Amino acid sequence: MEEKKELQLEKSSKKTKGPYRNFPMVPRVVFGHGSFDQLGEILMPRRNSDEAPAIYLVDDVFTDSALIERIPMHGKDKIILISADKEPKTEQVDNLVTTIKEEYKELPSAIVGIGGGTLLDLAKAVAIMLNNDGSSALYQGWDLVHNPAVYHVGIPTISGTGAEVSRTTVLLGPEKKLGINSDYTPFDQVILDPELLQGVPKEQWFYTGMDCYIHCVESLTGTYLNAFSESYGEKALELCEEVFLGDISDAEARDKLMMASWHGGMSIAYSQVGVAHAMSYGLSYLLGTRHGIGNCLVFQYLEEFYPEGVVVFNKMMKKHGIQLPKGICANLTDDQFNTMIKVSLGMVPLWENALGKDWAKVITPEKLKSIYEKI
Ligand code: NAD
Ligand code: ZN
Repeated sequence: MEEKKELQLEKSSKKTKGPYRNFPMVPRVVFGHGSFDQLGEILMPRRNSDEAPAIYLVDDVFTDSALIERIPMHGKDKIILISADKEPKTEQVDNLVTTIKEEYKELPSAIVGIGGGTLLDLAKAVAIMLNNDGSSALYQGWDLVHNPAVYHVGIPTISGTGAEVSRTTVLLGPEKKLGINSDYTPFDQVILDPELLQGVPKEQWFYTGMDCYIHCVESLTGTYLNAFSESYGEKALELCEEVFLGDISDAEARDKLMMASWHGGMSIAYSQVGVAHAMSYGLSYLLGTRHGIGNCLVFQYLEEFYPEGVVVFNKMMKKHGIQLPKGICANLTDDQFNTMIKVSLGMVPLWENALGKDWAKVITPEKLKSIYEKI
């Protein structure tokens, strides 16, 4: 009996005393207006040879823009313009890797992603897959990557996802939508130039910004929260409230949203996201709904889980005159609902963070269906 008690004690003390996760962070970051122009100087010492170029993966929204002209092309460097209309796929990553390997004798010196979460995730995934065999679909999951990635740089042009700072690259694969979560995923260098955010269409600005706001709410109310996550989450939330509810200039708002995204991303490193993300993954898997808007579509109906968060969200929507589309799930079949529910329920850590160990007692398939039906 005594022994059993001791064992239990040992077990429970282990639970509260670690082992703690040992996270990599982005080792170098520049913040500043016009800092994009430092890219050439930053890449120079990383260049391995004339046969090892820098490859720039750039959102094709910048085709023929002044930004393209500012890319510091050198030797055999190459710009690949990519549409962000669809979220990144494993097949797309594999094709990019094949193209690059066929064209050059050596591995690139650098992969530079310029764009939003879509391009940043593509850049991370391509950098990893240039140095790891097989399809990127094999690495969707946690800590499955064997070899370090090629040196990679992230330059966000829209803020909110936290992809610039995170340890994952979210890919839609043949079987699942899941990130390549690994120590090799984070960027080696990030350039935060708020001027690049100019030109983002208002609704997209709001949806991607709300991704950050929802990261904060889900992290700060989650059961995984610790002081590390809380410190970043609180700062990000404060910045989001200034950006979306305050009375500040557009320039100030860009600076602050860029930093909110960074802190929001840091906050969910240790903790996790929650109900909105788990359900939004289902929408995205079945209907291809984009991450930012998908989170908003779900979040508006989550007052039961995030009462204060939803009130503030509604205020933000109102202030910016945002009307979310309706009837997204109106004509879905039972099979389609079941697919979404299955994908969503598969996000176990998210549910556990949101609702604790007994989450499955609270969140049943019927419950999920009743929320999806409202969207
Ligand atoms: P995005 O990259 O999908 O881009 C959204 C739209 O904004 C696109 O049409 C794009 O062309 C446009 N755009 C971007 N910058 C612009 C600019 N400066 N001017 C004009 N238009 C511009 O947007 P996002 O919301 O940042 O990213 C969503 C993606 O991020 C999803 O694929 C999601 O899975 C991923 N994500 C990743 C993480 C992570 O940690 N890796 C976290 C959250 C989301
Ligand atoms: Zn998100």
